[in-house]
Amino acid sequence: MQELLNNIANAALKSEDKGQVATYIPELAKIDPNQFGISIALANGDVFSAGDAHVPFSIQSVSKVFALALALGRVGDQLWQRVGREPSGLSFNSILLLEKEEGIPRNPFINAGALVATDTYLAGSSPREALGELVRFIRAATDDESIHINESVASSELATGHRNFSLAHYLASFGNLRASVDKVLGTYCHQCAVEMTCTQLALAGRFLLEGTDMPKLVSSERRRRINALMMTCGHYDGSGDFAFRVGLPGKSGVGGGILVIAPGRASIAVWSPGLNKYGNSKLGTEAMERIAHETGWSVFGMP
Ligand code: GLN
Repeated sequence: MQELLNNIANAALKSEDKGQVATYIPELAKIDPNQFGISIALANGDVFSAGDAHVPFSIQSVSKVFALALALGRVGDQLWQRVGREPSGLSFNSILLLEKEEGIPRNPFINAGALVATDTYLAGSSPREALGELVRFIRAATDDESIHINESVASSELATGHRNFSLAHYLASFGNLRASVDKVLGTYCHQCAVEMTCTQLALAGRFLLEGTDMPKLVSSERRRRINALMMTCGHYDGSGDFAFRVGLPGKSGVGGGILVIAPGRASIAVWSPGLNKYGNSKLGTEAMERIAHETGWSVFGMP
């Protein structure tokens, strides 16, 4: 396993086409694209890492997995009255279907759906309390008290997040937000600005993996369902492509991170800031494809 990860990291650093770093969040535009990290946390507790696996990065939309777990913890299946469970086939920040589908976002991983999930775990608390709960959840999953929110990334996104403000106002116009748009957006941007290393993220992902000796943070049924949503919706309009190439549930973020679960086997985190046309890490996706190929971990069977 260590040799495989070393080979993948070395090949990634030499790659000519690393994709494009996200520029619409000014703080992310500053990130050096010549970085690549990968970590695998096996169900038995062993952890393997290579490249820049100890460099913290902005987890961005990977945080939507933790937000969904918290929202489901708050209201259970009632969440599905406010957000769907189908892929959208559109970009992560699209507003198109919201008008047609009367303010019910297609799934909790596109931005509109994630805003509803954030509004759900925010209900009845202040943004500070809700974010405290989110960070405590992530720290408990990782067993690492050092995980924190990068304030500069959160402010940078809040100052430029016109698209997310539009989505939130649109949701509010259909009565699908309980808290104010400002509170939801403030909480959402801080949630996305959680910073983690690949090693921390791989460890955190074990809450979605059966067969570990970690304390259970979600029920088995919820774990299976979150994995199903990651498989069908975790990469937006690139979800079909990711399932085709990798065959494992995953959630990407525009910071260049991807969390992938190989059910029963491992939680895998990869990070490379350059993105493909869907806004998912280009080299990260290629690395996951290679891991799935070499290990035979695809949920659809051996190579
Ligand atoms: N914070 C980012 C946004 O809302 C997250 C998007 C992503 O990672 N795909 O635009």
